Amino acid sequence: MNFPDLDKMQASHPRWEVPSNWVVCLNLSGGTQSSFLFLAMRLGLLKPVSPNGDWATVVCIIADPGNENPETYNYLDWLKENTTDRLPVLVADGPNITDDLLDNRNRSRLDNPPFFVDKGDLGAGQLVHKCTSHYKIQPIRRAFRKWCRDKFKIDPATSSHRFTVDCWIGFTSDEVRRVNRFDHSSQPQYMPVRFPLNELNIDKQQVSEFYEEFGIPMPSRSMCEICFAHGLSSRKKQAEERPGQFELACKVDDEIRDLRHCGVTYPVYVSNTLIPLRKLKENGFSTGNRMKDAESECNSGVCFL
Ligand code: SF4
Repeated sequence: MNFPDLDKMQASHPRWEVPSNWVVCLNLSGGTQSSFLFLAMRLGLLKPVSPNGDWATVVCIIADPGNENPETYNYLDWLKENTTDRLPVLVADGPNITDDLLDNRNRSRLDNPPFFVDKGDLGAGQLVHKCTSHYKIQPIRRAFRKWCRDKFKIDPATSSHRFTVDCWIGFTSDEVRRVNRFDHSSQPQYMPVRFPLNELNIDKQQVSEFYEEFGIPMPSRSMCEICFAHGLSSRKKQAEERPGQFELACKVDDEIRDLRHCGVTYPVYVSNTLIPLRKLKENGFSTGNRMKDAESECNSGVCFL
């Protein structure tokens, strides 16, 4: 990818302003929408306005489950190079999702993606979605609390001060379903969630136009290579363009088939087709059933954006 020099395109006035808390924490995944929020702030086009009218103090936090698409890592590296004092970027320490899934036989607890189970005559089912919390949300919160301790000498989770921050998530205005389905009760009190793109009525089309206007390459969807949400076309692309990552996904798929030691009594599959990934490749990544080829979604706000 050819990345432009952001320092040569600073805006003199913000195009968008978001009345905010004193502190804003951006969940930065390296996908299209969270990168838009970072870049628009970096260019001075988007201003999070603190209660006294100044720029709010911002921190951008990346959670890395260790299994993103290489293009996403490349993009995140470029964003990190463009960190400024006003826009620091942290990478949260956290566990590696692939290592843990491959090591599942030594575990009784698995923070798995919502992989699919074959219930025989009862049809297909899905495991409880645990990965996003364990590999992304919790590492981001730990990193944020550490940043607060270092910067303000306050831990927002334990402080008696009323210290609250806005947690920014990049759902656009045409993602009303994701906005409405977001589970605010799972957020800690000190970190209420805001959807600035939705509040500014910015939709996916406008986000695309932003990348085009500034000649900035558009990031690919940010998601783990072993994610349950790859549809068949996405898996096919992975097998063709990133065979090593496809082989890793196949290994995970092989290893999770029998999770009885984790309390799962049905055979488990990475793909919602309930077909092993190796078999799907042999079949040309087609089930002949279009409904089954549709991709799933994550509504937590830290995956894919
Ligand atoms: S991208 Fe997929 S596998 Fe990775 S944490 Fe998110 S939902 Fe889980």
